[in-house]
Amino acid sequence: MESKYVYNFDEGNKDMKSLLGGKGANLAEMTNIGLPVPPGFTITTKACNDYYDNEEVIREDIVKEIESHLVDLEIKLNKKLGGNKNPLLLSVRSGAVFSMPGMMDTILNLGLNDISVVALSEATGNERFAYDSYRRFIQMFSDVAMGIPKYKFENALDKIKENKEYKFDTDLTSDDLKELIKEYKKIYIKEIKQEFPQDPKEQLMLAIKAVFKSWNNPRARIYRKLNDIPNNLGTAVNIQSMVFGNMGETSGTGVAFTRNPSTGENKLFGEFLLNAQGEDVVAGIRTPKDISYLKDLMPNAFNQFVKITSILENHYKDMQDIEFTIENEKLYILQTRNGKRTAKAAINVAVDLVNENIIDEKEAIMRIDPKQLDQLLHPSFEDASLKEAKIIAKGLPASPGASSGKVYFNAQDVVEAANRGEEAILVRLETSPEDIEGMVSAQGILTARGGMTSHAAVVARGMGKCCVAGCPEIKVDEINKEIKIEDLVIREGEYISLDGSTGHVYLGAVNKTEVSLTGNFEKLMDWADKYKTLMIRTNADNPKDAATAIKFKAEGIGLCRTEHMFFEEDRIPAVREMILSKTLEQRLRALEKLLPMQRKDFFEIFKVMDGRSVNIRLLDPPLHEFLPHDDETIKELSKIMDIDLNEIKRRIANLEEFNPMLGHRGCRLAITFPEIYNMQAKAIIQGAIEVAKQGVKVYPEIMIPLVGEAKELKTIKDMVKETIDNIISEEDVTIDYTIGTMIEVPRACLTADEIAEEADFFSFGTNDLTQMTFGYSRDDAGKFLGEYVNKEILPKDPFEVLDQTGVGKLIDIAIKLGKLVNKDIKLGICGEHGGEPSSVEFCYKMGLNYVSCSPFRVPIARLAAAQAHIKSLV
Ligand code: PEP
Ligand code: MG
Repeated sequence: MESKYVYNFDEGNKDMKSLLGGKGANLAEMTNIGLPVPPGFTITTKACNDYYDNEEVIREDIVKEIESHLVDLEIKLNKKLGGNKNPLLLSVRSGAVFSMPGMMDTILNLGLNDISVVALSEATGNERFAYDSYRRFIQMFSDVAMGIPKYKFENALDKIKENKEYKFDTDLTSDDLKELIKEYKKIYIKEIKQEFPQDPKEQLMLAIKAVFKSWNNPRARIYRKLNDIPNNLGTAVNIQSMVFGNMGETSGTGVAFTRNPSTGENKLFGEFLLNAQGEDVVAGIRTPKDISYLKDLMPNAFNQFVKITSILENHYKDMQDIEFTIENEKLYILQTRNGKRTAKAAINVAVDLVNENIIDEKEAIMRIDPKQLDQLLHPSFEDASLKEAKIIAKGLPASPGASSGKVYFNAQDVVEAANRGEEAILVRLETSPEDIEGMVSAQGILTARGGMTSHAAVVARGMGKCCVAGCPEIKVDEINKEIKIEDLVIREGEYISLDGSTGHVYLGAVNKTEVSLTGNFEKLMDWADKYKTLMIRTNADNPKDAATAIKFKAEGIGLCRTEHMFFEEDRIPAVREMILSKTLEQRLRALEKLLPMQRKDFFEIFKVMDGRSVNIRLLDPPLHEFLPHDDETIKELSKIMDIDLNEIKRRIANLEEFNPMLGHRGCRLAITFPEIYNMQAKAIIQGAIEVAKQGVKVYPEIMIPLVGEAKELKTIKDMVKETIDNIISEEDVTIDYTIGTMIEVPRACLTADEIAEEADFFSFGTNDLTQMTFGYSRDDAGKFLGEYVNKEILPKDPFEVLDQTGVGKLIDIAIKLGKLVNKDIKLGICGEHGGEPSSVEFCYKMGLNYVSCSPFRVPIARLAAAQAHIKSLV
C-alpha cells in the first residue's frame, strides 16, 4: 500500500481527499454509489510531492503504475489510447485537497493525433467534431503543457475566419479545421523546435507534469495564500475517459448548484450550454442558458440529473456544485464538491439543513467560516456596481466595510462636510489623535501610511468604520488637498469608494447594499452561544460602541482605552495643560478640570453595560502624542496657559522621544506622575458609585498597562487602592472592583508569578506583546511584513494572527507562572487578536476566561469560541 501512487476510481472514497484530492475522492465516491461517472483513475498528491522532491521528474516506477492503470482502462472500455479504431480519449485534470476553482490546469481530448482523429471521425460519423476536438487539443496542450501563448493560436483561427468571412467558430468546416490544424502544428514547431507529439503516452506524461507544475503557478499560490491553504499539499491528477458535450444538438455541458450559492435558497441553480465542452462554459465566450431550459430540450436527461443532485446533496449532507456533460442525450457527472457560497447563503443553508434533519446544530456551527460573517456585519458594495467601478489603488484591508464619499484632507473639513449632510472620506498621510472627530464623522478612512494595528486601523475597527490603511501608491498632498495616483489627480470634494475588506480604492461612488441580518443568522448565533465556554467581551471606549457590542451580545468590556477620551475636543486643552505643567500644583489644577468629564464618561459606559464587567485601562500612550505640532495651535496654547511661546516649544521638544513606543508610556507615566492615575481611579469609582446609587449593578476592573516588573504594579496598585477605598468609605455603597494588569511586555510573562501576587487579573495585550517579542514596530512593520509572508518566512502577519510559536509560548509561561501563585486569577486577551478565529481557538486552549474584540467582531469571536469547544469534544 505504501508505494501505491495511482488509484482507479472504484478503489477510492470521499474520505481520501488528502491523497486523491477533492475531485478524485468525489469521483471515486460517485463511482461507488453507482452514478454515471466516466471511468478513470487518480494519480495521488503523494506522487505530486514525490515529483517535487525528485527535481521535477516523475519516477520510473510511478510512470509504470500510471501505464498499468491506463491499460486497465483501455481493457474496461475496449478502446485504445491513440488507437486507429474507436480511440480512447482522456481528460487530464488537477484536483487539490481543498478546491481551488480555476487555479490549476486541465487538458481535454488527450490522445488525439493524425491517426486517432480519423478513427474518431469514423467512430462518431462526425468528421467536423473530430477535427474540432483535435484543434482544441493542440491549442490546450500547447498552452498548458508547453507554455505557448494562447493568442498565437487564436490569431491563426481569426485569420482563417477572416479569409473565409465567417462570423462564428461553428462556421468552420472540416476542411477549414484540417487547414487550421496544419497552421497550429507550424506554430508548435516554431515555438518548441519539435513536431507536435504524436505518441499519446508522451502526450499523457507531459500533461501530467503540466498539472503537477500548475500547483505552483502564481495564481494558485496567491489563491492558497488568500485561503490559508498550505503550500506543501500538492495536487492530484485525474485521468478520465472523455465524454463529449460538443457532439451536436443532443449534447451539452453545464454546472449546477443544488441550492442558490448567493442566498442559500433551496432551489436548483445552474447553467448549461448546448453543443459545447466544459471550457466554453467557464471561459464565458457563449452565454449559457438557465438549467430549467434543459427540461424541455432533453426531459429524460434533465429528470435524471435532478434526481442525482438530490442523491448527492443527501449523500454529502451539504450544498453541492456539480459539473455534468450530456453526450447524445446520455448524462455523465464529471465532478461534485461542496459549493462555495456567500456568508448569507452559508448561514441559510446550514440552518435549513438542521431544519431538514440532515445535520445537527454542532455541524451547522462548524460549517460557517467565522471570518465570513464579516460580510454580514458591514454594508457591502453591490456586485453589479462593483464590476463597473475602476480600482485606482490597493492598501491594507484595515477595517471591513464599504464606503463612498467625497474626499477631505483634514478632520475639520470632514466634520463640516458631514454637518452639511455630505458623505465624506477622510484621507490622510497618516492619522493623528486630533483626527478622531473626523474619523467619527467620516464614512471611511484612507491613509497612505500605517499598518493593521496603526491608530487609524484600531480606531476604525472599534467604530466598525471602513478603513484602508498603508496605501503607498497614493500620494497625499494635504496642503493642496489632492491625491495623486500616477497621472490621476483627485481633488477635495471628488468621490472615491473604499472596500475595507479587500483594501481596494475605487474612483467615484459605488452603490451599496443594506445590512440585513436574517433570522437564521440570529438562530445560528444562539446555537453558538449554547456551545461556547469562552466569554466574549468587547473593546469599547464610549457608550455608543458599548451599545453596539451589546447588540451583538458582548458579555462585558475587556478594554476601555481611556486615552481616546482625552483626545476629545473639549478636553484636549486641559490634557495639554496637565502635560505641560511645571509644578505639581499646576498639574493637579488641570487634572481637576478633567475629573468631572472622565467621571461622566465612566458613568455613561457603566450604565450602558448594565451589570456587565467593565475593564478600564488607565492612561497608556506617551504624553507627547497629545501635544500640538502646528505653530498656530502652539501659539494658542501659550496664550491659554500664559507661558512664553519659546518656553512652550522647549517643553514640547523635551517630551519628544526617539522611540516613544518603548518610552515614557503606560504605567511608567504613573510612576513619575501618580496624580494622573489617581484622578482616573477617582473618576472610575465616583462614576461607579453614581450608577450603583441608581440601582444599576457595576463591576469595574482597573487595568494598569505595560507592567514589566511586579514593583511597578505594587506601587501603583497600593496608591490607586488607597484612593478608591477612601472614596468608598465615605459612601454608603459597596463597589466590587478589582485591580489587575495588562501582560504586554515579555518580562511580565517571564515574571508573571511575581506580578500575580499583586494582580486580580491578567489581560494579554498582544499588540504590544507581539511588537516587543518580535522587536517589530507595530506602526512600521507593515512595510516589510508583506514580503515576510510572501517569502514564507512568517506564515501570517503576527499582528493579525497570533504567533502561537513565540508570543503564544510567552502567554503559556505567563499563565502557568501566574496560576502557581493565584490559581483563580482571571485571564483575558484584549489585543487585536481577540477577534481573529485561530487566535480565539488558541485562547480557548490556553484556558483563558474571555477574549475581547471590537464590537463588530463579537459575533465572529462567538462563533470561533463555539467551534473551538465543539472541536475539543471530538
Ligand atoms: C495591546 O497592546 O495589545 C493593547 C490592547 O493595548 P494598545 O493596543 O492600546 O497598546
Ligand atoms: Mg498595549
